[in-house]
Amino acid sequence: MATSEELQATPKRSLNFIEQIVEKDLKEGKNDGRLQTRFPPEPNGYLHIGHAKAICMDFGIAERYGGICNLRFDDTNPVKEDVEYVEAIREDIEWLGFKWNEIYYASDYFDELYTFAERLILEGHAYVDEQTAEQIAQQKGTPTVPGMHSPYRDRPAQESLDLFRRMNAGEFDEGAMTLRAKIDMASSNMHFRDPIIYRIIKHPHHRTGRTWSVYPMYDFAHGQSDYFEGVTHSICTLEFEVHRPLYDYFIDLLKDERSYRPRQFEFNRLNLTYTMMSKRKLLQLVKDGLVQGWDDPRMPTICGYRRRGYTPESIRSFIDKIGYTKYDGIIDVALLEHAVREDLNQHATRASAVLDPIKLVITNYPEDKVEQMEFVNNPEDPTSGSHSITFARELFVERDDFMEDAPKKYYRMTPGQEVRLKSAYIVKCTGCKKDEQGNIVEVYAEYDPNTLSGMPESNRKVKGTIHWVSCHDSVEAEVRLYDRLFTDENPSEIQGKELHELINPESLVVRQHCRIERFLASAQVGERFQFQRIGYFCVDRESTRERLVFNRTVSLKDNWKKINQ
Ligand code: ATP
Ligand code: MG
Repeated sequence: MATSEELQATPKRSLNFIEQIVEKDLKEGKNDGRLQTRFPPEPNGYLHIGHAKAICMDFGIAERYGGICNLRFDDTNPVKEDVEYVEAIREDIEWLGFKWNEIYYASDYFDELYTFAERLILEGHAYVDEQTAEQIAQQKGTPTVPGMHSPYRDRPAQESLDLFRRMNAGEFDEGAMTLRAKIDMASSNMHFRDPIIYRIIKHPHHRTGRTWSVYPMYDFAHGQSDYFEGVTHSICTLEFEVHRPLYDYFIDLLKDERSYRPRQFEFNRLNLTYTMMSKRKLLQLVKDGLVQGWDDPRMPTICGYRRRGYTPESIRSFIDKIGYTKYDGIIDVALLEHAVREDLNQHATRASAVLDPIKLVITNYPEDKVEQMEFVNNPEDPTSGSHSITFARELFVERDDFMEDAPKKYYRMTPGQEVRLKSAYIVKCTGCKKDEQGNIVEVYAEYDPNTLSGMPESNRKVKGTIHWVSCHDSVEAEVRLYDRLFTDENPSEIQGKELHELINPESLVVRQHCRIERFLASAQVGERFQFQRIGYFCVDRESTRERLVFNRTVSLKDNWKKINQ
C-alpha cells in the first residue's frame, strides 16, 4: 500500500472522480485500507480501444495507489466464447504495458454460484419459471406500468429446487425453463422485475466442458465474483449504472454480517468518430470479409492498432487526454491520431521513400560518380545520430513533385525553377521526356555543386524541398495506405444501410513498386519510421525479404492541431 508521503510525491494533475473516491476510501481506512480492482472482459472477441480506456482505469488506479488489479474473464456464455480470445486479450493487455496480479475466470465460481442459487430458492428468493423468454418479456411491463406475476412465481421451493437440479442435469431443452430471482414486478427499476439469473445452455464451455447445463446471467455472476475475489472497487461503464441496485441486492444476500462489500462505480464509455466499437459489429466486419481479420490495420482493436504502427504509449497518452467523466459523448478520432503523431515524432527514424516514383536525371552530374549524404535520423532526438544516403545522377522523385505547366504557387519542380533535394543539392529543372501517349517518363534537372551544406551557396533560399532516393541504391516495396474505415462520422447511428455500404472505399489503397532507401529492407516487423514529407509507416507482419510491405500508420497532416490550436 502506498504511504501518504508516496501519494504526495506523485506529480500533481487533477484527479478524476474515481481517483477522488479511491483516495477518500483509503484515507478513511475503508476495506481495511485495501484497494483491489479487476478488468473483466468477456472472451467473445478481441479488445478494442474502448477496452483500453477501461484497462487504463482498472490497472492504472491500482498501480497508482499501491493496490492490485486482477484479470477476470467473464466467461458465462459458452456459445460465444473461445480460448483464442482469452489468449489475444492477455497479449493485448501486456502490450499496453499493464500487469495483472492473478488471472481468474467467472467459471472458477460456477460451484459457488450454483450453491448460492439453490440457497436463494430455498429461502424463497428464486423460482423456476417454465414460460418462454417471449412470455416473460411480455409480462415485464414498462417503467411506468408494473409487470405481471408469472404463474410459476409461487410454486413450492422444493419443486423449484428439483426442477433446477434437473435443468442442470440436462433433462430439459434450452429455453424450456429459467431460474428467476423473486424480487418485485412493480419496481421502478426494470432490472428488479424478477430477473432471469440462470438459463439452460447446451454448448461445451471452453474451460468446464459439459459439466454444466445451466449458466448464470451477468447480473448473477459479476458482483458475486467481485465479492469472492475481494474486489473493493468494481469499475465499469455507465450502462451498468442501472444494474447497480441489483448488484448490491445480491451482495446483501450473499455477504455475511461483518465482511467487506465490493462497490460498483461507473464512468463514460469511449466512443470515437468514424469508428464502430461494439465487438458484435467488429465480429461482423471480420465474418463478412469487409476487413482482413481482427488485426486489420483499419480495425479499432488493440491488435489492429499494433499492426498499424500505433505505440502503446500513444494509446495511453490519448486515454489520459480524454479523461473519465459521468457523461457519454463522442471523441474526435483526430485526437487519437494526434497522440500517435506526437509520440512517433519523438521516436521514429526519418527515412526517404518515394511512393509514386518517376526518374529524375541530373544531366550535369557525372555518370560514374556517387556521394554519400548525411541524413539526420531524428531532429527531435539529438542522440539519434544519422545515416548516409547515396546521391547519384539517376534518382527517383514523386511523380506529383513535377509539373510541366505549373500554377504560380507551385514550389516544386517545373521547368526553369529551383528546388532543394532534401539533404543534398539545389537543382534547377530543365524539362522532361514523354512517351508516345504523352505520359511523362523522365524529368531532367541540373545541379549546382556549390549548394551542399557547408558550401558557399548552401544557404541560398529556394521555396521548395523535395525528397528522393537514388535509382541504384533503393529497393522496391509495397506500401499500404490506410485511412478511416467508415465514411460517416457516426457510422453506428446510420439507419437502413448495410454494413458494407458504410465502408470508406479509400480506406485501403495499395501502392506497388514504391522505392525506399535500401537500409529499410532489413527493418524488423513492427519497426516504425517517418517517411519524409509523407507520414509515419511501419513494417507489416506480411513483409518478407522478397516482398517488403509497409503500412501507413498516420499521415503527417494533423487535423486536430489545425482545428484546436
Ligand atoms: P462491447 O459492447 O464492445 O461488446 P463489452 O462491454 O461487451 O464491449 P466486455 O468484454 O464485457 O465488453 O468489457 C470489459 C470491460 O471493458 C467492461 O468493464 C466494459 O465496461 C469495458 N468497456 C467495453 N467497451 C468500452 C468502451 N467503449 N469504453 C470504455 N470501457 C469499455
Ligand atoms: Mg459485455
